[in-house]
Amino acid sequence: MTVPNVALNDGHTIPQLGYGVFKVPADETERAVTEALEVGYRHIDTAAIYGNEEGVGRAIAHSGLGRDELFVTTKLWNNRQSGDQPFEAITESLDKLGLEAVDLYLIHWPAPQNDTFLNAWQHLIEIRDNGQARSIGVSNFLVPQLERIVEATGVTPAVNQIELHPAYQQRDITAWADDHDVRIEAWGPLGQGKYDLFGTPAVADAAAAHDKSPAQVVLRWHLQKGFIVFPKSVRRSRLEENFDVFDFDLSGPEMVAIDALDPRDGSGRVGSHPDEVN
Ligand code: NAD
Repeated sequence: MTVPNVALNDGHTIPQLGYGVFKVPADETERAVTEALEVGYRHIDTAAIYGNEEGVGRAIAHSGLGRDELFVTTKLWNNRQSGDQPFEAITESLDKLGLEAVDLYLIHWPAPQNDTFLNAWQHLIEIRDNGQARSIGVSNFLVPQLERIVEATGVTPAVNQIELHPAYQQRDITAWADDHDVRIEAWGPLGQGKYDLFGTPAVADAAAAHDKSPAQVVLRWHLQKGFIVFPKSVRRSRLEENFDVFDFDLSGPEMVAIDALDPRDGSGRVGSHPDEVN
């Protein structure tokens, strides 16, 4: 089973399916990431604020995999956006990960009240240029914030990692991303289990038709939409299930039925609004 690579706007590529470690406890992370690598995942999504970069680093170090076989993302936390703090933050993250460079470094949230995200973006450009990150991007950015950093620097982020699942598809941001050659990474791809996504007929009927689980159908929907996903679980059986999504295709009508699960009034959001996280 081969995970497709998606081309980024800077010439690099990213495996479309990865493993995210939000809320994986620090003392479980090495074991969970080791299992994910055994299952076949080659793309790990962590963040400084998750407090588990060291566990990710230990799993990588013990994996026997070559550096060029792995894609590692980490993120700059909100309180490190000002001054030259992004330089210190990336150095600390690389130390914890035991890596010389990450494949992707993201501004975690725009934190608009602080008004420091443009400064952070200017620093990420330098971090890319000095080789500590191969690609750079943002997370949880709204369209005006994306426009501001691109206008000010001329550098377009490689990705925008946003909450996205069938009930919350953020079409304004995905349309902007399409127009600007920015890839979308969908966080909370399964809705974080916070609403009955798996029981909706659009998902449940497709699962029955393809002899797959509802989670596999939702992940398949993301992949066919072109989104990058990294579902989280600490259970090996689910790591395996979530990786086993490349042997079937949802039909056009099945895709359309899942597309229609978004009430399109923003009420499907399960996480924080970017304006509220500072
Ligand atoms: P998710 O939608 O992946 O949901 C995870 C939950 O779904 C797990 O706790 C588990 O209970 C359940 N689950 C996983 N596999 C399942 C399966 N096969 N069947 C049934 N239930 C299953 O949500 P998430 O963990 O929040 O998002 C994935 C990743 O996105 C995170 O680990 C993190 O890397 C990233 N993320 C980023 C941000 C951000 O602000 N940039 C925010 C949240 C998450």
